[in-house]
Amino acid sequence: YGDASQKIDYVFKVVLIGDSAVGKSQILSRYARNEFSLDSKATIGVEFQTRTMVIQHKSVKAQIWDTAGQERYRAVTSAYYRGAVGAMLVYDITKRQTFDHIPRWLEELRSHADKNIVIILIGNKTDLEDQRAVPTEDAKEFAQKEELFFLETSALEATNVEEAFLTVLTEIFNIVN
Ligand code: GDP
Ligand code: MG
Repeated sequence: YGDASQKIDYVFKVVLIGDSAVGKSQILSRYARNEFSLDSKATIGVEFQTRTMVIQHKSVKAQIWDTAGQERYRAVTSAYYRGAVGAMLVYDITKRQTFDHIPRWLEELRSHADKNIVIILIGNKTDLEDQRAVPTEDAKEFAQKEELFFLETSALEATNVEEAFLTVLTEIFNIVN
């Protein structure tokens, strides 16, 4: 029935957005359960998963929301963004189009979410380096211009997934403290 070690100091809502099939659900699955699936089903129904981490001796519960196959432009509802203090904007480094759509997602995010929301741009699937279609420099430059954090990840290889969440959560933590 909950002891002191289970005390939660903060709950931060973070939303995952980006085109379909870029790996949002697998990034979440890797982070929340350390699981990965190559034949992941499209997500049905809005859902979130949680993971509690310790940041500067406080326990921070991240409540990560995943889109429910609403990745069509403007299909994500404002309820999805409500109360979000962090956002992970994901593209697939092997699909140029998913990167070209990032400005739209950013615009949508900025029109629906809190203006102080912490945003990280994520180029996923770095394990497919031989199929890369988006140079790291292009994304880095875009992130700098838009003042976003930026990391490349592989949900498959578990590269930088934890770091990406820690980056966002730590920044949020620093803002509220
Ligand atoms: P979502 O539509 O953005 O939620 O994308 P999913 O998480 O469902 O992933 C779409 C497809 O990409 C699935 O077949 C995943 O297994 C695959 N995938 C996701 N992340 C990675 C990754 O880091 N590397 C590789 N090679 N495949 C990935
Ligand atoms: Mg999904």
